[in-house]
Amino acid sequence: MNPYDYIKKEPYKLYIDGEFVIPKEKEVFDVINPVTNEPFAKVYKAGKEEVERAILAARRAFDEGPWGRMSAKERSKLLLKAGQILDKRKEEFACTETLECGKLYAGVLYFEAEMCVDAFEYFAGKARCIEGKTVPIDENTVNLVQWYPHGVVGEILPWNGPLMMGCQKICAILAAGNTAVVKPSSWASLSMMLLAEVFEEAGFPKGVVNIVAGSGSVVGDAIVKSPLVDMAAMTGGTDTGKHIIEASKDTVKEIALELGGKSPNIMFEDVNIDDAVKWARWGFTQNSGQVCVSGTRLLVQRSIYEEFIEKLKIECEKMVPGDGFDRTSTLNTLIHREHAKVVWGYIEKGKAQGARLVCGGVPYEDETLKKGNFVPVTLFADVTPDMTIFQEEIFGPVLCITPFDTEEEAVKLANATEYGLAGGVFTKDMKRGLRVAQKIKGGQIYVNSYFSKGMIEAQGTGWKQSGLGVAGIQKYMISKTIFIDTETGSVPQ
Ligand code: NAD
Repeated sequence: MNPYDYIKKEPYKLYIDGEFVIPKEKEVFDVINPVTNEPFAKVYKAGKEEVERAILAARRAFDEGPWGRMSAKERSKLLLKAGQILDKRKEEFACTETLECGKLYAGVLYFEAEMCVDAFEYFAGKARCIEGKTVPIDENTVNLVQWYPHGVVGEILPWNGPLMMGCQKICAILAAGNTAVVKPSSWASLSMMLLAEVFEEAGFPKGVVNIVAGSGSVVGDAIVKSPLVDMAAMTGGTDTGKHIIEASKDTVKEIALELGGKSPNIMFEDVNIDDAVKWARWGFTQNSGQVCVSGTRLLVQRSIYEEFIEKLKIECEKMVPGDGFDRTSTLNTLIHREHAKVVWGYIEKGKAQGARLVCGGVPYEDETLKKGNFVPVTLFADVTPDMTIFQEEIFGPVLCITPFDTEEEAVKLANATEYGLAGGVFTKDMKRGLRVAQKIKGGQIYVNSYFSKGMIEAQGTGWKQSGLGVAGIQKYMISKTIFIDTETGSVPQ
């Protein structure tokens, strides 16, 4: 199968109120294959008018439409049906996402697309398991604590995991009983435009899910500022998160933010170095480092420091850059020329600020690779906390390595950035493993592995400047407490 056979010849349409629509201005943007930097598809771009239509449709579907009145069981069944449809179209989704994002095809097909189907199944179950509680207040009072959907949720997505993050978030939004206005990133919109077809085929009532592609400054901003949107959620960079906090203040809507990271991965001297080196490499090279929870700061105990670096260099140099459809490729391209420029800027800053370049750090000479946005795996050793590359998220295959002597120093270094997303600790001493895991200020910590476990059941949150809000279905719900008096008591004096 040629992956381009799955790509539509005409521009991908917006999905508003149960219809595939062309925006009034008929503006489109190009979809670019990052392996060649050649455009291969077009997507219609929503303007303010289309966003408003989408919000009104979601509003109606929640306030008046069947969605708000449907039982949890009915909503759950629709989610299951959509999951089955997606399951049948996995190859098409995986090809599209690989073409648009440059990812490794096998990873998208066998891991990400599977996780998407799993999200539909998991949240279909969750929709039927929403529980409240009763709290004993006094003998004449019955108290109920209940969970409600917010109403209309605007979900703004990043480009690094558009299909997987889109599915997980939309499923959670719907399972909680909300309706959705979804804005994918302009660098990675296709999987969400296709997902609209899945919701349509599954028979979701119109207006329950609306998908509007377009820019952050127009579509994203309109969602965040609209008084008709009850909650705005965004996954993306911390600076964008700060904009959203500012832009949402006039409507004081609920916001949830899943933001950037600069996660530490700590190696104590008692580890099996050969195994730990493989985990360290895995922890920061997935999707060429374009993963929010990447373990991009490697902290290594001084007694094994040089040996670890030497072995890690060998492991990293084995990685083969190439097209995601080529089975021999193990290192994919970055998403966009502009993003690659940012990553190269950090690499140059690392060199200029005196970090020791261990490998990578110079562009590929190969003519085919030069057409794409490939960046070699780059290791910097002797990185200190005052360096920019220690502090800022690079979002590429770049690792900063720092030595430490004591456990106390390792924890201090681990927590020495503004971020608090994830982290790892490797040691044979489980008491120490747990102790350190508890001291790392972050919402997703691994002991003796990294970024490899069932994140849908046990989702992490962003601490510090890595996010706002809780994870999972609860993120999209709001609580209410009701007090019922069983006796007419006297009014307090
Ligand atoms: P980004 O911040 O550039 O964009 C994210 C989304 O916000 C896009 O859809 C964009 O169009 C939109 N946006 C931009 N400006 C906006 C505005 N003013 N108002 C409303 N919306 C606006 O992020 P990105 O480059 O797409 O994604 C990479 C970032 O996402 C990295 O920092 C990564 O760490 C983070 N991320 C975090 C998680 C997590 O779970 N914490 C997961 C994935 C990615």
